[in-house]
Amino acid sequence: MFDNLTSRLSGVIKTLRGEARLTENNIQEALREVRMALLEADVALPVVKEFIARVKEKAVGKEVIGSLSPGQALVGVVHQEIIALMGGEKADINLSTVPPAVILMAGLQGAGKTTSSGKLAKWLMENKKKKVLLVSCDIYRPAAIHQLGLLASQIGADFFPVQTGQQPKEIASAALSFAKTHFHDVMIVDTAGRLAIDEAMMKEIGELETLLKPIETLFVVDAMQGQDAVNTAKAFAEALPLTGVILTKLDGDSRGGAALSVLHVTGKPIKFAGVAEKLTGLEPFHPDRMASRILGMGDVLGLIEEAQRGVDQREAEKLAKKMKSGKSFDLSDFKMQFQQMKNMGGMSAMMEKLPTQLSQAAQNVKIDDKVIGRTEAIINAMTPQERAKPEILKASRKRRIAAGAGVTVQEVNRLLAQFEQAQKMMKMMSKGGMTKMLRSMKG
Ligand code: GDP
Repeated sequence: MFDNLTSRLSGVIKTLRGEARLTENNIQEALREVRMALLEADVALPVVKEFIARVKEKAVGKEVIGSLSPGQALVGVVHQEIIALMGGEKADINLSTVPPAVILMAGLQGAGKTTSSGKLAKWLMENKKKKVLLVSCDIYRPAAIHQLGLLASQIGADFFPVQTGQQPKEIASAALSFAKTHFHDVMIVDTAGRLAIDEAMMKEIGELETLLKPIETLFVVDAMQGQDAVNTAKAFAEALPLTGVILTKLDGDSRGGAALSVLHVTGKPIKFAGVAEKLTGLEPFHPDRMASRILGMGDVLGLIEEAQRGVDQREAEKLAKKMKSGKSFDLSDFKMQFQQMKNMGGMSAMMEKLPTQLSQAAQNVKIDDKVIGRTEAIINAMTPQERAKPEILKASRKRRIAAGAGVTVQEVNRLLAQFEQAQKMMKMMSKGGMTKMLRSMKG
């Protein structure tokens, strides 16, 4: 997968040598290479144009840090922009609604809707401990209903039995009542696809959307379709309020264009990727990991990271200085710490490296890796003023933040309690201790 794209991008490094600063002139040839590579990989033209413009803007004037070569520095920018092109942060599936959380699956025939419905059910059962009901509204292909029934029994999910002659809307509303009375947390609805965009199909799925009010409407698209995938994505995004994308068949001979274009075209993030035919072959989509895969060049990315770590180190030193200067440690600093924890391989890796006294304090804070993401979501939902002055967070603000982050008010309170603990922890540390601590952890 992505082989061509990867090898072309590797060539970029060689086109730039021995300059201390990236300039419009010296990156021109390299950018031409990147442009060709993306076009060859079937990335949509408007996406390529905007991408190149952004890389140029970010790169020009950039100092080449540390031991990097200029080509490597440019690859660093390209890497960051590829991540941004795919949405930056990982986009989680949203289930925060009164159960059942309805997930509507949309897409063309053969895209992998039915298979993905089964895979997603399995993933939600195993990773989120959800009780899942699978429903098929594809009355035009009895084989499709049967296929979903089989998948359901393989993974041990419940399957809604369809009666002959039932119309999609009837099936949907009957299934919804069934899910309510049987206490399903999630109901995944597979729909009929066609070989190409077709008005009747769009109308039908539009009606299902109106009726079911799904929390997630996922567009399933085959990565191997290249430019066609992009056109289909566009049509679906215009007709339906999509919330995300499942990109299937990434294990196949995909050139990568769909992965890179789909967010730009639909405005919706890829939430899952199909990576194998088997039922375990569905993974949450991580833009950063995918970008690294596309670029290949693990060694170069490692070097860039090293150099970047030096910059992070300076951030940590800034934080230490801020504390020393008497300015208080606020929620933005707290969030930065969480981000650094993520970079360092999560809380568990970090705990092993902490000095005993701090490790005990950190245990009192009781943070585990899963909490890191939610913590960030909660802090992101705050205004800068709230982050700087958590004491202004009274009930109504907390309610707003909880709603924004998709969590309960109790969780917001818990985070604030943890923050207070962390604040204490910061005070415990002697002058310069923060920097030393981070340095020792980076080891
Ligand atoms: P639907 O018509 O959209 O419901 O498509 P199906 O779910 O029936 O899938 C069409 C074909 O694609 C089937 O043969 C699936 O096994 C295959 N398929 C779906 N997802 C993947 C994937 O991620 N990787 C691979 N290799 N095959 C997949």
